[in-house]
Amino acid sequence: MFENLQGRLGDIFDKLTKRGALSEADVNEAMREVRVALLEADVALSVVKDFVKKAKEKAIGEEVLKGINPGQMVIKIVHDCMVEMLGSEETAINLKAVPPVAILMVGLQGAGKTTTSAKIGLMLKKKERKKVLLASLDIYRPAAQQQLEVLAKQAELTSLPILFGEQPVAIAKRAMQEGKKGGYDVVILDTAGRLHIDEKLMEEVANVRDVAKPAETLLVTDAMMGQDSVNVAKEFNEKIGITGIALTRVDGDARGGAALSMKEITGAPIKIMGIGEKIDEIEAFHADRVASRILGMGDVVSLVEKAQETIEQDKAEELAKRVMKGQFTLEDMLEQLNQIRKMGDIDGLLGMLPGIGKMKKQLAEAKVDDKMIARQQAVILSMTIKERQNPKIIKASRRQRIAAGCGLTVQDVNKLLKQYQQTASVMKKVGKMNKKGLLGKMGA
Ligand code: GDP
Repeated sequence: MFENLQGRLGDIFDKLTKRGALSEADVNEAMREVRVALLEADVALSVVKDFVKKAKEKAIGEEVLKGINPGQMVIKIVHDCMVEMLGSEETAINLKAVPPVAILMVGLQGAGKTTTSAKIGLMLKKKERKKVLLASLDIYRPAAQQQLEVLAKQAELTSLPILFGEQPVAIAKRAMQEGKKGGYDVVILDTAGRLHIDEKLMEEVANVRDVAKPAETLLVTDAMMGQDSVNVAKEFNEKIGITGIALTRVDGDARGGAALSMKEITGAPIKIMGIGEKIDEIEAFHADRVASRILGMGDVVSLVEKAQETIEQDKAEELAKRVMKGQFTLEDMLEQLNQIRKMGDIDGLLGMLPGIGKMKKQLAEAKVDDKMIARQQAVILSMTIKERQNPKIIKASRRQRIAAGCGLTVQDVNKLLKQYQQTASVMKKVGKMNKKGLLGKMGA
């Protein structure tokens, strides 16, 4: 899927070789190409504009991490923007309604509605242990109802018995009644497909919707379809109101721009991906995986993530080494607070220091929430470098200036300094133990 876009972005980013922060010129050039590539990949123009704007804002001035090149950095930023646009919120099928919960499947003919109906039924049965009833409302395409019946048998699910000549709205009614009577959790209604948007059939789906009152109306669209599927999504959303998208044929060789646009244009999240013809070839939608596939650069994204981790690791190790030597300044403390905020707890940092389990516990007890850490950081940031390196010089007048500088009180400054002194004395002890060889070889 999406190979063309991959090639395109690969070429652009190879051109960027300068180091340091990403300049506006670099980013502009890259984004011009991203824009063309996305348009060629059938992403709707309005979506492209919005996307490029967001990605540009994020990228300019961004520091290029050690160990990766600027092109890779831009790819990561573009990737993150794409994840955001595809939607990283919960995409589970909504079953929160009084059972039987109706799921209405809509879309064009051949999009994969019938197959996806059975796939979702099987998925809900297996994963959520739901009792599912399948019903086909497609009285137009020859053997459409039988097709669902066959698939239901394969999935060992029940399908509503076919009554020849019954109209769609009546079938929907009967399915819901049967769902209630039979104690089903979910009733999946597979509506008639259409070759193109057709007013009469739209009206019919709307009538079915009014009868079944679905918790989910899933638009089934083919990932191979390109820009047209965006128009289809728009129409269905305006006329019927869709709550989610099931993207089929993700296993195919599609360009995939539509996936990016559909969510933006309809506001409905992609919830399901069809990844093959078989009845169990279905997956929950994962924005990060799809974005990596759109870019075709999952490896670059994980490379950048690893580089980020390595930098954190380097900083932590450096700090650990200084501690082993009994050195601990307010700058170290600031760095430590940064680490804590990023890591969520102090364990990761102290885990590098062998033999200080007890102190670790003490420090863990002093664990503070994010807001408090932010205040502590603000106090330190309000100090001069000289003060941070040599806290002894911070007397009363300096404390007042620091407090005013960060909009906090002198008490806050005192508290921070006291905490620093406590931590520093623990660190000093660690340093002494190290010098006596109690902590083994580390940090020499
Ligand atoms: P409907 O007209 O919308 O009900 O479409 P169908 O469910 O009959 O599907 C049309 C064709 O697409 C069938 O041959 C399916 O096997 C195939 N199909 C459906 N979903 C997928 C998918 O995710 N991947 C692949 N490769 N084929 C699919």
